Amino acid sequence: APSGRAAALRARMEERLLGARFRYINQQLYTSRSQDALHLFQSDPEAFHIYHRGFAQQVGRWPENPVDRIIRRLRQQPASLVVADFGCGDCKIASSVRNKVHCFDVVPLSPRVTVCDMAKVPLAAESVDVAVFCLALMGTNLQEILEEANRVLKQGGALLVAEVASRFKDIRAFMSAMAQMGFRTVSKDLSSTFFYLLEFTKTGPPRRRPCAGLRLLPCLYKRR
Ligand code: SAH
Repeated sequence: APSGRAAALRARMEERLLGARFRYINQQLYTSRSQDALHLFQSDPEAFHIYHRGFAQQVGRWPENPVDRIIRRLRQQPASLVVADFGCGDCKIASSVRNKVHCFDVVPLSPRVTVCDMAKVPLAAESVDVAVFCLALMGTNLQEILEEANRVLKQGGALLVAEVASRFKDIRAFMSAMAQMGFRTVSKDLSSTFFYLLEFTKTGPPRRRPCAGLRLLPCLYKRR
């Protein structure tokens, strides 16, 4: 049997390896198209568990988890509203509100999840009242992803976005690009140094021309 020290050393090495794999997978997700995320995780299901463990550790260091803010926001509104949670992870939203919540992710962490690419979800046009992206706008095809959210949202429906603050290079350009995507700003909370919380209303279909301001920097975590 390994001595206590050897076991501790091995545990530390395993932790480092998992950390390195998490950062590698995370970087892949932020630098490739959303369709590729589906393939990445389907070809390597273990990667998904490593990713999620690392993600939970990162967010666990923050003073507040944005998903709790979104849950609070949903609870202020009627439970009859239908919600779509894009990149739902462990489905904390669905398990915390009374609303009907469609949960989409690339791998099912929970039986509630419908496995798909968030740029192509199996919902009818104008079928949901609220679309949520909580730390989930990862793919480089951001425009396509937001077009999909626009498609499934009813006119006047709400889009709730929580994203890592450091991903926004130019928040004003981003907000005006969102207006071109058919989303009017309702509120923006930029007070946390960790994440921004943005709320929009769907005003109509997106304009098809590309939006230069619609860019988010990848969120690359440092080695610790
Ligand atoms: N919204 C959850 C999880 C955020 S982590 C929360 O706040 O706790 C980002 C999630 O987006 C991961 O679960 C990841 O698997 C998912 N994701 C990344 N790319 C995706 C894609 N192309 N389609 C669907 N989900 C995706």
